[in-house]
Amino acid sequence: MFVNKCNCKENRLLSDGRTVCKCSANTQKMATDSFKVPAVPVSRPLQNNTKVINEAKDSSACIKPESSNKKDDKKKSWSVTDFDLGRPLGKGKFGNVYLAREKESHYVVALKVLFKSQILDSEIEHQVRREVEIQCRLRHPNILRMYGYFHDEKRIYLILEYAKHGALYKLLKERGRFDEKTAAIYIRDLTKALIYCHTKKVIHRDIKPENLLIGHNWELKIADFGWSVHSPSSRRMTLCGTLDYLSPEMIDGKPHSYAVDIWSLGVLCYELLVGLPPFDAKDTHQTYRKIRYVIIKYPEFVSEKAKDLMGKLLVINPEQRLPLAHVLQHPWILENAPEGAQPTVYTAEQQS
Ligand code: AMP
Repeated sequence: MFVNKCNCKENRLLSDGRTVCKCSANTQKMATDSFKVPAVPVSRPLQNNTKVINEAKDSSACIKPESSNKKDDKKKSWSVTDFDLGRPLGKGKFGNVYLAREKESHYVVALKVLFKSQILDSEIEHQVRREVEIQCRLRHPNILRMYGYFHDEKRIYLILEYAKHGALYKLLKERGRFDEKTAAIYIRDLTKALIYCHTKKVIHRDIKPENLLIGHNWELKIADFGWSVHSPSSRRMTLCGTLDYLSPEMIDGKPHSYAVDIWSLGVLCYELLVGLPPFDAKDTHQTYRKIRYVIIKYPEFVSEKAKDLMGKLLVINPEQRLPLAHVLQHPWILENAPEGAQPTVYTAEQQS
């Protein structure tokens, strides 16, 4: 388990069972508008004399550990008093996300605040722990960084990279659907991030627009690793994730592997281009049926090359899905998302 390697004894996510944790960090009241965000996010590593978050060589050192050495007594873990809290960025099921700025470095981050009581009541301790363990270790431009975490009596705080343009889901709802160029760029970026995850033996298992954020340069970032697992995982899983994005093997409760992310990539490609997921139906039963028999209707405006790619991703047999490395070489990607191409939203912003 990564957390064990992290040397950070006080920063275990939750104290054992339901006992109250020993951490005595402050529970500062949240201010909502205490500072303005700079136009360009601060890009230097979040670091100061006592704590180093960003560039630790050992990627497991998500938070600089508390020291047992007396000489280093000054070293302490993060607490909410280390941050100026800004406006809320969004609301999740188990807490809120705030814009925040580390006081010494002025590094701008997103602080996700989760309530321990809600996590315990919903019995999702494992999910949160897994999210932290996995996300802390991943380093990729298309994966949201988790710099560290800390907790107080009632809350868990996740220190996250700030994604300026928020959730892809929101952007998609505002625009209805994306043009082929923008969709291809996001599919290319997501493919690269998934290739990286899979080389680290991580299966995300919950790719969907709600779990994707858009960064400063309109680049896509995978967030939310709550349902991810380390492979090999031949576990028959409880149904997790949104039904629309679940693969046939998942809805049938069969063992599954990396290829579930390839399936979700195909579903996302359709939703980005069309504005609705391909297996959308009036009830769950119909959605199940459509997934199981891969019943897809493509609107006329979808190009032949895009259909060809989706047809190769949305394949019932997981072993026959197009490997991710091949996605990057697919003619639709090569034509619409050559290296250096920017989403249309970005180009529009530059021109205005
Ligand atoms: P979550 O609890 O992770 O589902 O987040 C709720 C909402 O907060 C998301 O839909 C985003 O709009 C926003 N949000 C979460 N994390 C970030 C972040 N790192 N940067 C910017 N906005 C975020």
